[in-house]
Amino acid sequence: MKSVDAHVADILAAVCVLPPRSLPLEAAHGCVLAADLRAGTPLPGFDNSAMDGYAVYAADVAEAGPDTPVTLPVTGDIPAQAGTPAPVARGAAARIMTGAPLPPGADTVVQLEWTDGRTDAVTVLRAPFPGQNIRRAGEDVAVGDLVLPAGRLLGSAQIGLLAALGVAAPSVHPRPRVAVLSTGSELVEVGGTLGPGQIVDSNSHAVAAAVREAGAQVRRQAHVPDSPDAFAEVLPGILADADAVITTGGVSVGAFDVVKQVLAGSGEVRFERLAMRPGMPQGFGLIGGVPVFTLPGNPVSALVSFELFVRPALRRMRGLGSVHRPTLVATTAQELQSPRGRRSYLRVRLVVSADGGPPVAHLAGGQGAHQMSALAAADALLIVPEDRAEVSVGQELTVLPLGDEVMAAPVETEAGA
Ligand code: AMP
Ligand code: MG
Repeated sequence: MKSVDAHVADILAAVCVLPPRSLPLEAAHGCVLAADLRAGTPLPGFDNSAMDGYAVYAADVAEAGPDTPVTLPVTGDIPAQAGTPAPVARGAAARIMTGAPLPPGADTVVQLEWTDGRTDAVTVLRAPFPGQNIRRAGEDVAVGDLVLPAGRLLGSAQIGLLAALGVAAPSVHPRPRVAVLSTGSELVEVGGTLGPGQIVDSNSHAVAAAVREAGAQVRRQAHVPDSPDAFAEVLPGILADADAVITTGGVSVGAFDVVKQVLAGSGEVRFERLAMRPGMPQGFGLIGGVPVFTLPGNPVSALVSFELFVRPALRRMRGLGSVHRPTLVATTAQELQSPRGRRSYLRVRLVVSADGGPPVAHLAGGQGAHQMSALAAADALLIVPEDRAEVSVGQELTVLPLGDEVMAAPVETEAGA
């Protein structure tokens, strides 16, 4: 049996970062910048006021104090708006608002709170230092500064900076477009009526959600029955406008394992048995250059396989430098069994330990590959290595936290159904 690590390595060696595209800011959010971005314009773009107050010559109010107020005529108002304000004469003041351009002549802003706030003439009660409350052009970003390096993930702050710099459509690695296709003649779309022997196609919803959580765009296809003709018929259309395809079901050794039947002969997708539980039967390959992940049908197997094999690949395609989640160490709360020679990924809940040590991992429920309730209750996968068949209480093992994603992509379209 092939090791999990070898399978991950094969997949990561086969998938490529998606070529850059210029995308409008909304679409670029959550994407990775494809090229170094240097500022073509300074920030702030012009000297402006950091406060609501009065633009003055500092020297005119240098003697101002609570007992030595200085009164200046107010010769105008300068709101934050387009245009160049009129100059301020020596011995005068102009009312100025936050963000408004500093008028020619003035070198300082006295904040409103240090004055009596009047509009015809203003009495200044404290002396500002020269240049106080002025935001200088270029003090945040100077022209030519490397503001965002290639490889930077664009979150809200980066999007705001790009907008401020006037970059409406940065060059980014787009989110992969991922098609998700369930196979199985027993499947019914959620909400439908179940006849004898039928189950809801939950995998396509779970995997589609996992795709979004991995920052990719998903197209959930209508499930296909275990008919090689039906599968072979829909596949080319799905491949045509996808950057990756994920199927579930039909990769095992059953009599009707349609995915394997159709794709094994092509030589493009390799079907292998992995030394892991859950998720032993796996397939991966490139069809016409498009990565195709054929995951097993058991719901827990499908999602654990996604976590281990597909998520890193999608992150690689997005251009992210780190493709794996950080792991933790936890101690076991129970005795555990694991098949020797296979790596187990047990669904656990992590409980903070009272003594400040590593968190304690409790099984989150039944560990069958069909038992979604335990996966839904879990916040991590506890990894029992291949060489451990028994684990006693209090042992330290690695856990893979199943954290929330901050960069979940919006729903694109749901094809078929
Ligand atoms: P398979 O890998 O096709 O042999 O399926 C293994 C198990 O997973 C069977 O019990 C299937 O009924 C179940 N299964 C397969 N596909 C799905 C799906 N889309 N949603 C929920 N369960 C599924
Ligand atoms: Mg099946």
